Amino acid sequence: MSIIRVDNSEKTEFDKAIEELKGYFSDLSKSKGRPATYNLLTYGCQLNESDSEKLAGMLQSMGLEKIEGSGELAAADVVVMNTCSVRENADKHLFGNLGVFKSFRSSGENSIIAVCGCMMKVPENVEKIRRSYPYVNLVFDPQQLHRFPILLRDAVSMHKRSVSICGEDYIAEDSYFPIERERKFRALVPIMYGCNNFCTYCIVPYARGRERSRSFSEIMKELEDLASKGYREVMLLGQNVNSYGKGNDDGKTFADILEEASKISEFSRIRFMSSHPKDLSDRVIDIMADRPNVEKHLHLALQSGSDVVLKRMNRPYTAEGYLRIADYFRERVKGGSLTTDIIVGFPGETEEDFVKTLEVCSRAAFDAAFTFQYSIRPGTKAAEFPDQIPADVVTERFGRLTELTNSLTEQSCKRLVGRKEEILIEGISKAGGGVYSGRTITNHLVNFTIPDEIKAQAGFCEDSLEGRLCSVDIQYARPYSVDGVMERFTDGK
Ligand code: SF4
Repeated sequence: MSIIRVDNSEKTEFDKAIEELKGYFSDLSKSKGRPATYNLLTYGCQLNESDSEKLAGMLQSMGLEKIEGSGELAAADVVVMNTCSVRENADKHLFGNLGVFKSFRSSGENSIIAVCGCMMKVPENVEKIRRSYPYVNLVFDPQQLHRFPILLRDAVSMHKRSVSICGEDYIAEDSYFPIERERKFRALVPIMYGCNNFCTYCIVPYARGRERSRSFSEIMKELEDLASKGYREVMLLGQNVNSYGKGNDDGKTFADILEEASKISEFSRIRFMSSHPKDLSDRVIDIMADRPNVEKHLHLALQSGSDVVLKRMNRPYTAEGYLRIADYFRERVKGGSLTTDIIVGFPGETEEDFVKTLEVCSRAAFDAAFTFQYSIRPGTKAAEFPDQIPADVVTERFGRLTELTNSLTEQSCKRLVGRKEEILIEGISKAGGGVYSGRTITNHLVNFTIPDEIKAQAGFCEDSLEGRLCSVDIQYARPYSVDGVMERFTDGK
């Protein structure tokens, strides 16, 4: 499989396709007597969310207006489903939603339906769509995001289904796309795509292709631009950000990106996701410790505390190696938070292996853990392993693990009580009732109230709280979050 860097040779065609679709949807809008609309459903991780911000940017450039929610599916003129093959039951969601259109078709509704994302790299899924969902107009894989307008135009103008799954791994710079960012203060910035690790349970290397990194100078240009537009938080994304730069010829590493980004003073928070223990360097941890606007939060997937299971997972580190990184992080990043992912019930996992996972969790004192019960992902090596663990054993172990990790999370929250923490405000809390939410630099979720005397101050505006910094007096710990009262803004505005 080859890696192809997308240059501007297709850009003229890309822009032309957008213009042609703009004309098509303008006519459609006139004939319907209302704006033409799109509905974009996104499943999965932040990389998929980032792809969806580009899809949204392209759809809006075609003159389409956004409508939201799976209940509104048939009301949209264009429906795009950006799928994920990592999350459990992703296939049920996709095929359930596609099934909904059967009845709409028979009642005369005629949305253009496009399906993309990782699931389209699994041949069985594409075949199922070909066979059972004849009304799907376009299928394409995540490697071809930069071709979406061209593929959509061709599918629309030829009135026939188009399935475009390619064998190459493309990499396009963000500047190639119009991007409609979901948040006004936080920007998702992919720095690399794909993965070379082939963990035996994971479909990503097959779905997203080989590792390929964006250009360092293009990333820095994008970050400067985001800062000038008022973004206060950036999330640097990749399946394995710490192997950024391999294959590029300028010698730049992830640590270089993090260090340079941290010099952009407009950014209050610089976050990154995901890290692999085999590639994380001490220099990255040193930068986290030394640069005030780099988040003091490391998410580092452990997956198992047993060396035997790690080997079967094709994760080339040991539990001791992982703990060495954890210790260095705790020593250098004082008060930082360490979170992880753990899979329970991987094929062949014995009770002894599982107990080792519990022991590593206690020793690492994780601030939070995302725990998963192993389930077979078709197309992966582990799906073929003979020693799958019975479901009741997996469930029982999962219960013991979550009991431990929940108690570690609660302890982590309790440690914040009585402290004044600087919070980056994310907006009104889901709980409502005059409560706002935000995050500490350690990524702890804080729900807080704002006293009336602050609300009465000149210049206070509820609508422009997102992205502002404030100090909060933390008063109460919940199992996964803390509550507090705002003291003052700290960003000098
Ligand atoms: S590092 Fe492993 S788990 Fe993560 S994306 Fe790559 S193959 Fe999947």
